Amino acid sequence: MKTVTLYRAPTTPADVDAVGDWLDDRIDATVRVRDRFCALYGDEPLAEAFADARVLDPYDRETGNTMLGIVRYEERALDDPERAGGVIYDGLAVQRALYDQLSAEERTLDHLHVPVLDRVVGTWGDHDGRWHKRVNVLGQPGLISVPGLYEAPAKPEQYYKEKQRHAMVSGDAPPREVLESTIDGEFLVADDPRTTDALKGYVLQAVHYLSTGETFCDESGCRLHNAHRQPGVVAAQLDTPEFCPRHAERYRS
Ligand SMILES: [Zn+2]
Repeated sequence: MKTVTLYRAPTTPADVDAVGDWLDDRIDATVRVRDRFCALYGDEPLAEAFADARVLDPYDRETGNTMLGIVRYEERALDDPERAGGVIYDGLAVQRALYDQLSAEERTLDHLHVPVLDRVVGTWGDHDGRWHKRVNVLGQPGLISVPGLYEAPAKPEQYYKEKQRHAMVSGDAPPREVLESTIDGEFLVADDPRTTDALKGYVLQAVHYLSTGETFCDESGCRLHNAHRQPGVVAAQLDTPEFCPRHAERYRS
């Protein structure tokens, strides 16, 4: 791989330039950072593709609502991503749509593009017949979802119980500090200050996949591990050491 281009997500706490610096210390390829992908390449066909990629029902594989109003909404969301909340998009369809926006000379396999997105993306689970939110979607481009970091890996069981209990007593959600102090096991919440640090490994997973063909690492303490639960995300991405011995060999800074 010769070049990796990352795309910023300014409406999120993810500091993509810092992720780029971290990556640059660990791989041979040239790392570049550009502005938001959707701001650079957003046009009507892309808005239509997002409309078509909307998950309408978590248990229905069929996606898409290309009614004119929805397409217009998606057009505005390309410019103003704050509007795009609450929707899950089919990650593979978004990946194809963003790929189509790349210029022919930048579509090569030696140039990986990694748009960091402020959208929630998911993939369909054939084994259980429902959509699963994802932190990343590997391939070209490699998608990274910032809200996916908070929402895709499950929080500790106690978190949901505590939230429910608090809602019954006071009618609202408990403050984050309360949740953090009462629940065993670590987890990331929306706009978590550890966002940038946690995303580094997910970006490297996209690089690793395109350059080696390997997906995730089985070692739970490795940045290339795909944890299904939040405490696992903290162990893989934020605790030391960064990598398992095999991947430390390859990605030592
Ligand atoms: Zn590893």
